[in-house]
Amino acid sequence: MVKISVRTPLVELDGDEMTRVIWQMIKEKLILPHLDVQLEYYDLGMANRDATDDFVTVQSAEAIKRHGVGVKCATITPNADRVVEYKLKKQWDSPNGTIRAMLDGTVFRKPIVVSVVPPMVRSWKKPITIARHAYGDIYKNSELAVPGPGRAEIVFTGADGAEQRKTIAEFTGAGVIQGVHNTDPSIRSFARACLAYAISEKTEIWFGAKDTISKTYHARFRDIFAEEAAARTEDLKRAGVSYFYSLIDDVVARVMRHEGGILWACMNYDGDVMSDMLASGFGSLGLMTSVLVSPDGKFEYEAAHGTVQRHYYKHLKGETTSTNSVASIFAWTGAIAKRGELDGTPDVVRFANMLEEATLECVEGGIMTGDIARIASIDVREPATTEGFIDAVATKLTAKLS
Ligand code: NAP
Ligand code: MG
Repeated sequence: MVKISVRTPLVELDGDEMTRVIWQMIKEKLILPHLDVQLEYYDLGMANRDATDDFVTVQSAEAIKRHGVGVKCATITPNADRVVEYKLKKQWDSPNGTIRAMLDGTVFRKPIVVSVVPPMVRSWKKPITIARHAYGDIYKNSELAVPGPGRAEIVFTGADGAEQRKTIAEFTGAGVIQGVHNTDPSIRSFARACLAYAISEKTEIWFGAKDTISKTYHARFRDIFAEEAAARTEDLKRAGVSYFYSLIDDVVARVMRHEGGILWACMNYDGDVMSDMLASGFGSLGLMTSVLVSPDGKFEYEAAHGTVQRHYYKHLKGETTSTNSVASIFAWTGAIAKRGELDGTPDVVRFANMLEEATLECVEGGIMTGDIARIASIDVREPATTEGFIDAVATKLTAKLS
């Protein structure tokens, strides 16, 4: 069989534990037999991050900036236990955090909808993608416990020494106060990344805030989003989609009765809360993909779940595992399709679509791992093993391609 050739190198970021095991299988059985692709490989496995003093993470982010598209395996974010387990020089930062900061990117989480796992919400038919602004608000706050009577004030001292102050509250007894902030550049980058994603995916974009109550803070988000959407009016029109703003309460109510197929841009706290609601509403962590998009349109695809540590320890003991590889496969197909789109090579996009179809047909035909079998609407006599599922997809894909 002639391999389909990919014009530009694809940046590959390897990772840890069970997802590293799956990663290798996906590459060997689903990708490399069919694609002639130059993979620019970075090993973000825990051992190599430690050996390179985490420089490999920085290099991988630079490679994504250079080539435009990367695909990433889940990685360990070390805690104190991991420092001991892997004999680390130090507790290295989260690779995702490092890459996100270097790309100034926003993370979009999108569920994979399969007919045998009906969403909890009856009206949801298509995926609802959520984007969370990952800077500021209560996540970078200053708080004080107020011991008793007194005045709380908010003060800004300009670089020129000029002061602005406002009373927050006159306390007659004990209480609490909190100061939060955000910056225009961060809000703007977020809005730009959301618009880049919506235009690229041809999906409606919704944003909600509480600007009726917060007439300066939340209103600033609303205004910056409106400015950025206006700047891309032509691109939105060409993609056949529009930008919609409403009060956050109204947006929540609409999401619950909408059929889906939208991008929901969220302020930091809303995104934290609502992404968990959507993830459980759509089913399994193994069916959630994630893509990091920079304001200037660089893309890094991955599964939303972690390294599935518990399964890895079973695997190391030689026990059979049933780890879901669907989200990792979709990380590859997302990256490959985007590469094909940017290169103008429709056969590469077609290959990615076929691999997604082959994967979904397996699941819908009753071949699935334990995590999906437990919540599926059909009876599954025996869940597939980790490798058995990937082999079934490989067989189906080969049949489709020939
Ligand atoms: P996790 O790896 O997502 O796993 C949590 C649990 O969810 C698993 O134990 C498993 O449940 C289930 N699960 C998740 N993905 C699954 C899959 N593909 N197939 C089947 N079941 C799946 O999260 P964690 O255990 O909290 O974190 C483990 C490591 O991953 C940590 O070191 C963390 O730093 C890292 N992490 C990395 C990323 C990333 O790179 N993007 C994201 C999150 C976490 P059962 O055990 O009940 O079967
Ligand atoms: Mg949360």
